[in-house]
Formats: sequence, C-alpha cells, structure tokens
Amino acid sequence: LTSGLESAWNKLKGEEVLTKENIVEPMRDIRRALLEADVSLPVVRRFVQDVSEQAVGVGVIRGVRPDQQLVKIVSEELVKLMGGEVSELTFAKSGPTVILLAGLQGVGKTTVSAKLALYLKKQGKSCMLIAGDVYRPAAIDQLVILGKQVDVPVYAAGTDVKPAEIARQGLQEAKKKNVDVVIMDTAGRLQIDKTMMEELKDVKRTLNPTEVLLVVDAMTGQEAAALVTTFNVEIGITGAILTKLDGDSRGGAALSVKEVSGKPIKLVGRGERMEDLEPFYPDRMAGRILGMGDVLSFVEKAQEVMRQEDAEDLQKKIMSAKFDFNDFLKQTRAVARMGSMSRVLGMIPGMGKVTPAQIREAEKSLLIMEAMIEVMTPEEREKPELLAESPARRKRIAQESGKTEQQVSQLVAQLFQMRVRMKNLMGVMEGGSVPALSN
Ligand code: GDP
Ligand code: MG
Repeated sequence: LTSGLESAWNKLKGEEVLTKENIVEPMRDIRRALLEADVSLPVVRRFVQDVSEQAVGVGVIRGVRPDQQLVKIVSEELVKLMGGEVSELTFAKSGPTVILLAGLQGVGKTTVSAKLALYLKKQGKSCMLIAGDVYRPAAIDQLVILGKQVDVPVYAAGTDVKPAEIARQGLQEAKKKNVDVVIMDTAGRLQIDKTMMEELKDVKRTLNPTEVLLVVDAMTGQEAAALVTTFNVEIGITGAILTKLDGDSRGGAALSVKEVSGKPIKLVGRGERMEDLEPFYPDRMAGRILGMGDVLSFVEKAQEVMRQEDAEDLQKKIMSAKFDFNDFLKQTRAVARMGSMSRVLGMIPGMGKVTPAQIREAEKSLLIMEAMIEVMTPEEREKPELLAESPARRKRIAQESGKTEQQVSQLVAQLFQMRVRMKNLMGVMEGGSVPALSN
C-alpha cells in the first residue's frame, strides 16, 4: 500500500487543480492500493468512482495543494464509507436486551461473547451468556471458563439439546433473573452452510434479538463482502464486530461491511484479553487502511487546521489560566486523532517514531480520561481547582467512572501540568504552579 499511495500523491505534485485528466493516474494507484488492502472489488469500484466525481468538482482552496486535497477527499470518503460516526449498541426498551452473535468458526465469537459481557458490565448492566455451540463440548467449557473470568453467569445445556431450545431456556432463565443483557454464542462452520443458517434462523426466531452481530475476522480479506451479504440476506444482521485487529491485517474487510450490508461495525476486538473490546472508530480505521502511505502533507494540513481553529481560543484561556477539563478533552482528542494518523506515518512531529503499541496505549489512556471527565459535573470541568481541593469529589469521580482514586489524582495533576507547560510555551510572564492535591 505504501508505494501505491505515495506514487498516487506524487503524480499530482506541480498540478494547480484537480481535473478529470490529472486524477486518472492517481486514482488508478488508489484503486490498486485498496485492492492490496483486501477491500472487495465492487466496493473499490464504487469508491473510486465517488472520489473521482468529488475530486473534480472541488474548487481550489488557497494554500492547499491538489494532492493534499485528494488525500483529504479519499480519507473523508473512507470514513463515510465505514459509517462516519461511532455506532452504539441498541438496547431493548423493556425486558432484556438480546444480542445474538453469528459468524464462521474461529473468528472469535466465543471470546467476543465474554468480552462483550465485561464491556457491558462496566457500563453498569447485568449480563448473562448462553452457550449455543453444541457441536463442540469444548466450546461450552470455553464459554463457562470465560464467563467465570469476567464474573458473568453462563447458561449451558447438554450437547444433545437443539440450539433454539437452549436459546428458549436461556432467555427464560434471563427473564427470571431480571438481567439487562443476554448474549448468545453460536456455532460456526468453516464455510457458510445451509444447516448452519437454518439453525441460526431458528435461534433468531426464538430469541427475537435486539442485535444480531456478525463477528468478522479482520483478516478475512476479499471474501468479506460475500460473507457479510450472505449472513445479512439469510439471517438479517444489525451490525458487525471486527476481531483480531491487533494482527497485521490492513483491515480492508472493514470497508466492505457497511457498504454491502448497510449495517455498521459497532465494536472491534484488539487482542486476546477480556478487556480488548472497543467501539469502532471509522476515522481511526481509515488511517489504518490508508496506512503507511506518505500522507505527511495531509497531517501537516490537519495540524494547521487544528491550530487555527483552537489556537486563539486556547490562548485566551491560557492567559487567564482558564484552561479546563473541557479544553483538556478537546486537546487530548485532537492529539489522539493525530495519533491515529501517525500510525499511518510512523511519526508524530516532535515526538519521533511512534510504535503501534504506543498509539494503542495512548488510545487506551484517552478512554480512561474520557470516562473520568464524563462523570464530572459541568462546574468541576470548568474549575479543576474544585477537584484539587476536594478528595471527596475525587473519590466520587473514581467510583462513578470505575477508575481508581489514584487515576483521578493523576488526571487532575496532568491538567495543571498542562496549564504550566502551555503558559511557558506561550511565554507568559508569570509561571503557573502545580498545586499539591489535598488529602
Ligand atoms: P469462535 O470459534 O468464533 O468462537 O472463536 P474463538 O472465540 O474460540 O476464538 C478463536 C481464537 O481467536 C482464540 O484463540 C482467541 O483467543 C482468538 N481471538 C479472538 N479474538 C481475538 C482478537 O481480537 N485478537 C487476537 N489476537 N486473538 C483473538
Ligand atoms: Mg466458539
């Protein structure tokens, strides 16, 4: 992909505007690059056509080179193709929310069942798992073990019971226990086969699920489009979960899901640990798919935009020492966005090379920070001093966000450190200080 996109952008160097003629070659490179990233052919075709139409129509923006413009359009279209925004899970208005997981064998359904239960538990929902893979006794044991690990009850019956019957019993049990969310794991085959589909249909009829999520291995590649189409037509899915994103797949499968089914990817699995399940961020995935190409100019542009938009406002705030948690969140998110771009580049200005592991760490700590800032009152967000002064407030935030008091203290300290750093950066006379947190 690297060389493909690089040459695409390079072909536009020296051009004044994007025209029908001068985008032909770059678009050919982009097409090749997407195919190399395992995006399905029909999806690539439509994508290239959309981008071409848009590119030619776009006016000249002062100071932006045509190659930068094309990168921007490609990136934006990729994000749009994957649904644009984060798609949340749907919950039932009354009674338990039922989530049915489907997919081929080995894609990570059983693992995802338990991960999802943990994920929802952290949001304060009670969960129950149903072991629906009756073909391998080991699969039931696996779910029981994982259930223990995340401390969620598992409903299991013998291997001689039909999956639809297990579903019925499990759901009954869940209603009796008044659990918020029921997650049913199912069997998968190496290939899509008729019996498997019929069985899934039976299970679906029995459960009447709120969500039917197709679990897709990120490595699936070209077959992803056909796979998603089949499951969507046969069973009817409400979304997908992309697993094994921690591997070295380029994630082309992600592009096909929404395009061929109209249904979004809702979550991604990024590892074997139970904690490794996250919402799906289309913009981050676009960065990954664009991957490794030389989109430095785009990043520079993006940074410029960020600076212009926020700099003035930020400067005022810093001058009056008003930089608060709202700004902190904005700033950190902007840096995180740059971070996912930098995965693309392997570099972040001023920070040297950034490894994927470091980016993942940064993304993780952003999620932790977000969780803590989310439970702050508007007043606390605007006056971080309140948190520096009150251990009781910090304790409450720790409890409500499910983080430790130490993590909250760290966050508060970080904000004040940022104030100081920025004051110094801006060359303001009086240096701020980091208050010691009272106990
Ligand atoms: P199932 O057959 O669809 O139920 O798949 P399993 O849940 O049994 O998972 C198959 C294998 O993939 C197991 O070894 C899992 O640990 C592994 N696995 C599942 N999700 C992920 C993931 O997100 N990343 C990685 N690296 N491995 C995963
Ligand atoms: Mg399984």
